[in-house]
Amino acid sequence: MRVELGLDRDPTLADLRSELRNWITDNAPPGLADLLDWRSGVDLPGSVASRVSEEERACAIRDPRYRQWEQRCLDARLVCPAWPTEHGGRGWHAPEMTVLDEEFYRAGVPRVDRVQGESMVGPSIILHGTDDQRVRFLPPIRSGDHRYCQGFSEPAAGSDLASARTRGVVDGDEVIITGQKVWTSRFATANMIFVLCRTNPQESKHRGLSYVIVPFTPGENGIEVRPIRQMTGAAEFAEVFFDATRARLADVIGGLGRGWQVVQSTLAFERAAAGRASTMLIQARRRELRDLIDLARRKGLTGDPLVRQDLAWAATQVLLLSTTWSRTVAEIAAGREPGRQQTAWKLMWSEYHLRLGEIALRIAGPGALARPAGVGYPTDDWQDAYLVAHSGTVYAGTSEVHRNIIGEGVLGLPREPRPAAAIRS
Ligand SMILES: Cc1cc2nc3c(=O)[nH]c(=O)nc-3n(C[C@H](O)[C@H](O)[C@H](O)COP(=O)(O)OP(=O)(O)OC[C@H]3O[C@@H](n4cnc5c(N)ncnc54)[C@H](O)[C@@H]3O)c2cc1C
Repeated sequence: MRVELGLDRDPTLADLRSELRNWITDNAPPGLADLLDWRSGVDLPGSVASRVSEEERACAIRDPRYRQWEQRCLDARLVCPAWPTEHGGRGWHAPEMTVLDEEFYRAGVPRVDRVQGESMVGPSIILHGTDDQRVRFLPPIRSGDHRYCQGFSEPAAGSDLASARTRGVVDGDEVIITGQKVWTSRFATANMIFVLCRTNPQESKHRGLSYVIVPFTPGENGIEVRPIRQMTGAAEFAEVFFDATRARLADVIGGLGRGWQVVQSTLAFERAAAGRASTMLIQARRRELRDLIDLARRKGLTGDPLVRQDLAWAATQVLLLSTTWSRTVAEIAAGREPGRQQTAWKLMWSEYHLRLGEIALRIAGPGALARPAGVGYPTDDWQDAYLVAHSGTVYAGTSEVHRNIIGEGVLGLPREPRPAAAIRS
């Protein structure tokens, strides 16, 4: 099933769709779609339907068929396709990316996605980096040789990122970094990190920051990583400690003391990427709802008026998510900026998922309170959805921060008193 966006009324997008459909047919190695349930997307928190573990995914991407597919996607510029053509992409925007996602989803084949390298640090280097930095850092992101994690948040600097305290001291042609980051996702697969640090403590809060690319070498160069066990039992993020970690001055992006501008771009790219992932997100939510209705059926609860009401609410929300996203993409396709819709969208899907988790546990019944048997800290799919859904209301700007943005920026309500700090949204 694909999301009906009406994009195909645009003949260029309709042509792109058939071009991609034919390309997939001609290039997907036989058996690729059966290697893994690529549609379940481990990158979508709470994607319940047929959860795919990191181990299963790691095994699938070592398979020669995946490797062949990856190379073909690289050759066809379908890796980092939103990057400008001179950097190996196709210069695509949300409508083209949506068609791409829909066609790959329809065929059940994987998008070769370089995640934070592709969607956050790469575009920031394109915008703020020097030619030398673009040459050194962009190709290894596309090839998959550099895999990034994000070193922004600190124990006392999350929403208020400009309060970052990690120090960067310039020493000759190096920057020596000391401090602590937290909630660093993808630490387990990363070999590079982009770090926000304070290189000039005398300057005002926003002006003394720098954005540095650092090889991520846990156990070496003063970098220590301590995984954080989440309530789902998984450890998808970590605390990262820097103790006199040496980075190259040449790897400061945007210039010394100009890190805040680069951070703002990175966060804007993060929000845009979250929007682009929305086709997958909607599919995941549809699939999850179907599974929940099946669960209610198996438990003989579909005649219960309260359960029916909850399921009807969820079905309405999924429809609203789909139409809201359709409207956003249609506006982008028509050349208009989506503006604050992205904020409303983030709030909408994350708060929906939080409530869906509660509904799921009510339907699952008292058994949902007990963890399944097994070593470690296992959870079943619905427990996992409920627990993971909380994180969606925190990352990429918390719900409270987004509500403030809507209240003040869209509805024109009086500003909430706050410390003089720029807020991550
Ligand atoms: C799953 C997940 C993955 C993450 N991955 C990364 C990563 O890879 N790298 C990274 O650097 N960070 C990452 N983060 C961290 C994330 O960006 C922060 O958690 C987020 O910015 C909030 O910061 P905080 O946790 O310090 O909460 P705080 O900013 O301390 O907020 C605490 C509470 O106060 C509220 N609050 C704060 N400021 C305001 C305000 N101005 N108005 C109203 N309410 C406010 C918040 O809404 C929240 O309820 C991740 C987080 C999660 C959940």
